Amino acid sequence: MTGDGTRAVRAGLPPEEPYTPPLPGPVFAAHYHLPGEVTDAPYAYGRDANPTWTALERAVSELEDPHGDARTVAFASGMAAISAVLLSRTRPGDVVVLPGDGYNLLNRLHGRLETQGARVRTVPTGGREQTDALKGAALLWLETPSNPGLDVCDIRALADAAHREGALVAVDNTLATPLGQRPLELGADVSVASGTKALTGHGDLLLGYVTTRDAAVADAVRDWRKLVGAVPGPMEAWLAHRSLATLQLRVDRQAATALAVAGALRERPEVSGVRHPGLPGDPAHDLAARQMRRFGCVVSFTLPDRAFAERFLAALDLVHDATSFGGVRSTAERRGRWGGDAVPEGFVRLSVGVEDTDDLVADLLRALDAAGRG
Ligand SMILES: *Cc1c(COP(=O)(O)O)cnc(C)c1O
Repeated sequence: MTGDGTRAVRAGLPPEEPYTPPLPGPVFAAHYHLPGEVTDAPYAYGRDANPTWTALERAVSELEDPHGDARTVAFASGMAAISAVLLSRTRPGDVVVLPGDGYNLLNRLHGRLETQGARVRTVPTGGREQTDALKGAALLWLETPSNPGLDVCDIRALADAAHREGALVAVDNTLATPLGQRPLELGADVSVASGTKALTGHGDLLLGYVTTRDAAVADAVRDWRKLVGAVPGPMEAWLAHRSLATLQLRVDRQAATALAVAGALRERPEVSGVRHPGLPGDPAHDLAARQMRRFGCVVSFTLPDRAFAERFLAALDLVHDATSFGGVRSTAERRGRWGGDAVPEGFVRLSVGVEDTDDLVADLLRALDAAGRG
């Protein structure tokens, strides 16, 4: 029996060796000493493999699939990981089912997939359409909870239905992190995520990964990483591994505060559409409670209009107006400023950090008052 916190602090560490550090430092190498035959060399060239990646990849595999034998391939960013799965696995004529309300760059990949001859069906997360779109599908892409709308879909039910069609099932696990949800245990073939967000949590690096028990998929994405060169820097990989030790502390604190924040916002008349998967009464809560182990740090809600939302964001002291989410410092933004999501002008995505809950709630309520005064 190993709990999540215990697993997180030990994940991917090498066996104890006297007089060596518990987590070896980053290995900076473009090439390695390479005598003779090259076929069995674990490390030959820096685009193919790096011991710092290997340690991080083991760690992520332990967190995503503690009771299985999944393998992880680390990437330079979440988009590098997502593109590796979608572009390496799709053949001309394949039917690919994407969420229409997922990460905004999925829309751009949609066009790219069609250029490659795929037929793309886009469906909302959590709706009946997700099942209906599976006929003849080769690949089903899920993002749950979705960013930024926080809708949730039933991974197990959709994976079972997709497998009956012979489709590969991938889940973007960025928002939940592996401590919040384990897609492979819920029947998905692939868990993909941006490590830029809550996984590493300090807002100081970009990273992505693909975790799968399917050896062919692992080989294909590793080959893709080499071909396009979307490799993580050793420093980023090391910082990410170091940050995993506090993952449980961060996500527990963030989820508890997010719930308190969502509850407080729901009481306010000028705030509508408060969403957080952990909030009882949220349309996604029952399903989220069945398949998630922690509900994440994001709360989304809608303010009366764009000007109100801008005044609110400007009045906050403890919350930076910034994109991204999952960091130790709270951030929020008006998503409409990007133009990519189908959200109202007053829609705000708030990422709850690890500040004291009372301080954060007080700051948010005070900023609502200030915004209301005009
Ligand atoms: C941020 C994000 C990505 C992209 O990750 P990068 O590391 O920024 O490339 C993909 N999916 C989701 C759900 C995200 O939030």
